[in-house]
Amino acid sequence: MRYRLAHIVPLFVAPLLLASAGLFIIVFDLLPTPLVRLVDMTVWLFALLGGLLSLSYARSRNLFALVFVLGTYLSLMHLVHSPVLAAQDAILDPALSYLLISFLLPVFLTLNSLWVERFHLMQDLLLRTAIFALVLLILGAVALRFPQQLTELLSTIYLPSLHPDQLRMAQVPALTLLLACLVLLVQLVRNPQPHFAAQWVALICMTFVLPWFHAGYALALMTSLALIMLSLAVLHEAFQMAFRDDLTGLPGRRALNERLQRLGRNYAIAMSDVDHFKKFNDTYGHDLGDQVLKMVAAQLRKVGGGGKAYRYGGEEFTLVFPSKTAEQAKPHLEKLRVAIEQYQVKIRDEASRPASGNEVKKQRNGGSKDSVSVTISMGIAERCSDLPTPDDVMKAADKALYKAKDGGRNQIAIY
Ligand code: GH3
Ligand code: MG
Ligand code: MG
Repeated sequence: MRYRLAHIVPLFVAPLLLASAGLFIIVFDLLPTPLVRLVDMTVWLFALLGGLLSLSYARSRNLFALVFVLGTYLSLMHLVHSPVLAAQDAILDPALSYLLISFLLPVFLTLNSLWVERFHLMQDLLLRTAIFALVLLILGAVALRFPQQLTELLSTIYLPSLHPDQLRMAQVPALTLLLACLVLLVQLVRNPQPHFAAQWVALICMTFVLPWFHAGYALALMTSLALIMLSLAVLHEAFQMAFRDDLTGLPGRRALNERLQRLGRNYAIAMSDVDHFKKFNDTYGHDLGDQVLKMVAAQLRKVGGGGKAYRYGGEEFTLVFPSKTAEQAKPHLEKLRVAIEQYQVKIRDEASRPASGNEVKKQRNGGSKDSVSVTISMGIAERCSDLPTPDDVMKAADKALYKAKDGGRNQIAIY
């Protein structure tokens, strides 16, 4: 859980900073007059930027989140600029429109976030457009045909004890918002991705300004900030795609190369490799093998001594220790080696159970659940006059790793 939290909390930093800045400006009315006129334009600017980013990275989910936020803004602006006072001229009663907007934003954002991109970008965009347009059309038709009933349905306070007077929202939209926040949070915990956090904060920001949509620049400012949050999430995900290994969540080879260029004069590098992993895959299947790699990565991530773990490739990981000698790094690696050796990975799938034993340790865990453990070997080297570059140190660490393998595996060797 601590590992998950360490992943999730940073995702909220940028959105919450933007939201707090927006809130501060709105509450204390700090936006300079010349900028007030510009803020309507910034909505379009950020929507366009975010849209282009989402399209270029084929993120239809992000694109639609932007569309929903922009749609909310435009619908509310329409309410402001259309003849609200002459409500009888409006196609839809403004009060009902407002209720529908505050209800639909959380619903659409949540449904969209649950809908994983599986198809080709164009197909995905068309399908999303068709489905959301259809829902809008049906709801629009119901709103036109039964305006009174729908207004009543959305605005009635069903549970007065659960509805504080200060809440400037009808109960159904408020409960929908609560549910949407919950669903987004569950998704974020299960799969810590920047866009869930950005949508979570953007949704709350937009809901916060809904009641003030007709007053000043609050709505335009918050919409701009929500669009920035969602666009930053696209960039963040693009960055992760390039620098983070998808299976283990550790930084990958590209991030390692980047780090190696910025090391000072003293450092140690360790290469680690899972023992007999080919045999493990052959015996238990590739899926359990993947699970083991995730476990190994989760252990290596905990490395102390200022070290940092990277997935070098396959079942090989690199650990970089700035300002450390090999001797100083060794105890930290020893802890990881023992933790991995002791970790029992459960075999859930019947098909993964081997018919007979093999070199990988297998244990019976009390009941019928079998579990397995793996070991790793490591080699460490440090920068010195004979090994002046990170590349030399890595090659030396690799040689030490072979020494550890030759020495019987499940051990650490220093170059
Ligand atoms: P040694 O103790 O000498 O390291 O033996 P080994 O079998 O681990 O060494 P080898 O390099 O021959 O095998 C590495 C295996 O790791 C081959 C491949 O099946 C497996 N492997 C590499 N990447 C992945 C991965 O992403 N997932 C899974 N499940 N297996 C992987
Ligand atoms: Mg290997
Ligand atoms: Mg291996």
